Amino acid sequence: MLVFDKLVVDYRTDSAGQTTMRALDGLSLELATGEAVSIIGPSGCGKSTLLRLAAGLMQPSSGTVSLDGAELKSPRSDTALILQDYGLLPWKSVFANAELGLKIAHVVAPERKARTLEALKKVGLAGFEKRYPAELSGGMQQRLALARALAMDVNLLLMDEPLSALDALMREELQDTLLDLWKSSKHSQILVTHSIEEAVFLGQRIVVMSPRPGRVLGIVDNPEMGARTYRSDDVFFERCKKVRSLLDAGVAQATEQEKGATHE
Ligand code: ADP
Ligand code: MG
Repeated sequence: MLVFDKLVVDYRTDSAGQTTMRALDGLSLELATGEAVSIIGPSGCGKSTLLRLAAGLMQPSSGTVSLDGAELKSPRSDTALILQDYGLLPWKSVFANAELGLKIAHVVAPERKARTLEALKKVGLAGFEKRYPAELSGGMQQRLALARALAMDVNLLLMDEPLSALDALMREELQDTLLDLWKSSKHSQILVTHSIEEAVFLGQRIVVMSPRPGRVLGIVDNPEMGARTYRSDDVFFERCKKVRSLLDAGVAQATEQEKGATHE
């Protein structure tokens, strides 16, 4: 469904564009329809950049992003990108926040209402329609951001460290919700996280990225995921260990390279 082909992204680091910094360095990856993939990697390795590319919000310096066989040149309404800061409007009610995407897409009022209420119900926020974001806990705010995406009935859900502001218990609850939603709605999804456990709980494959400039260091297949009880499964622990060793190897390799570079 989604194909990243040899993506390179160079950011300008001065206004004249004289100096650049490479964020992604030839990253290739494919996502099948309905697949759930987790992406993990050190801070600054280009994970958010990759999601912005997948959302059509920016173009690579070289390489291509294709969706359903066509090169992606601009954002599309079938994709939602959920960020850590939720993107909620504090002066609008829960209902108004949840229906925002549909309103922007000019969906007519009766349908908008039905789809918004349905989405709020799916994330466990039925009955909170008239509240305001500030009256909700962090977990509920994140549920609301999720409801907005679900109301749009997207087929590609991109999430950038969506749960990292939550405490551990709230986090597991939301992970369960994300798992249930993915299983019932069959959308494709990419979850960026820096939690190894979260990556393994929610990804059929876990993509481990190298320190900047980001490349794919390795991919851990994780076909056993899909049950809430997976967290206490021996396979789960094995997969976490595997992801951790790939991450550690990547960091060690980058440190070696840096040493080499300074000695030259
Ligand atoms: P991650 O999400 O993995 O932490 P990012 O994709 O946000 O990484 O950033 C990758 C690298 O690119 C970082 O070193 C970051 O500082 C840099 N970067 C990100 N956005 C910009 C930008 N708009 N301009 C310049 N540098 C940027
Ligand atoms: Mg990021």
